[in-house]
Amino acid sequence: MQKTSTDLFAQAQQFIPGGVNSPVRAFRSVGLDPRYIDRARGSRLLDVDGREYIDFVCSWGALIAGHAHPQVVEAIKAAAERGTSFGACCELEVRMAEMLAGMVPGIEKVRMVSSGTEATMSAVRLARAYTSREKIIKFSGCYHGHADGFLSKAGSGAMTYGIPGTPGVTRAAAADTLVAAYNNPDDVRRLVSDNLDQVAAVIVEPVAGNMGVVLPAEDFLQGLRSLCDRHGIVLIFDEIITGFRLGPGGAQKRFGIMPDLTTLGKIIGGGLPAAAFGGKSDIMDMLAPVGPVYQAGTLSGNPLALSAGLATLELVREPGFYQRLDARADIFFKELLNIGKETGISAVLNSMASMGCLFFAPGPVCDYGTAVLADTARYAVYFKAMLDRGIYLAPSQFEAMFVSAVHSDEDLSKTLEAHREALRGLS
Ligand SMILES: *Cc1c(COP(=O)(O)O)cnc(C)c1O
Repeated sequence: MQKTSTDLFAQAQQFIPGGVNSPVRAFRSVGLDPRYIDRARGSRLLDVDGREYIDFVCSWGALIAGHAHPQVVEAIKAAAERGTSFGACCELEVRMAEMLAGMVPGIEKVRMVSSGTEATMSAVRLARAYTSREKIIKFSGCYHGHADGFLSKAGSGAMTYGIPGTPGVTRAAAADTLVAAYNNPDDVRRLVSDNLDQVAAVIVEPVAGNMGVVLPAEDFLQGLRSLCDRHGIVLIFDEIITGFRLGPGGAQKRFGIMPDLTTLGKIIGGGLPAAAFGGKSDIMDMLAPVGPVYQAGTLSGNPLALSAGLATLELVREPGFYQRLDARADIFFKELLNIGKETGISAVLNSMASMGCLFFAPGPVCDYGTAVLADTARYAVYFKAMLDRGIYLAPSQFEAMFVSAVHSDEDLSKTLEAHREALRGLS
């Protein structure tokens, strides 16, 4: 007998803290238990209870070409046949590095790692070494993985569960992290002048995707660029979501603003564990073995992960890929908002390209402070109504919704219909 989601979750809780290997997978904030996924293909998830869902989590944005894309699966199979890990150099690493440097304007040299957390952690270490300074500035509601220094006012699961800082982080690590409000250049300027010649890096999600979706205000990113230039601060764009979501060169190409360092993840692994950090050669060449900054990984540049990533990047490089995806996503997001207006529910929709978020918020959402005004109890009811209608959204108000290239017109219209019914149920 196949175990049900209920059976599996009960068993999981005995052996795994909270039953989950990442808090964002728990359905606690929406008052439910998680569904256990058996298989996934294209735009669909199938759970062990035999239910099918149209998936808008897409492995938290990683699967821009959908689940189990035939070309990606083929690439992984072919790579597996040749050995799953060499612990030595291989050609795929060279191809990936060349591809990333060719597509992302701010990357001259790049190093592969296995998770986004490793990428941001390593980028900050490098920035500290490069500047011989210790402090960093991050923004409340931005998420940069779970390394100690990033867990002040972090987005994603930390925001969902109202964890502003976390035990286990030393006072020193917390003190070295200065937190500014997103879209607030004055806040950043104040922190920089209060900590003159002490700030190594400013790290930012150029479009925030971990407090729901929050767009950068006009001139916000350019302002950061100028401020960092003036004070010799390393500007890090965390493009782990936006990297190949907002176009082939990420937010930096879209907005024409060059960071000093860039972190990538999610899409570049094509659903396998791969991430990267890269930037200007003079900074990157401080890494061992050429420079003194140590950074390493047993599975970094793993051939399975790289083959999945490269196959995915080949797909997004096809002419018209982003034009088609973004145009369809745009219409879809507009419709979501229109239906909201028709039903008289007060909601705000923030979106760019194929990432978006519907906030049950009273007014515009432009930072952490305005995002947390959203009605999370209402989101929980909405989430359940959507789930019951076969639509799988993130189990939190403060996460993005991702449209992939394989969401069909039928998938999108079915989702809009479910959305209409779910909203009616709220009013
Ligand atoms: C997902 C994410 C990370 C962390 O990546 P992991 O692979 O989960 O460690 C870091 N930054 C941003 C912007 C992300 O969305």
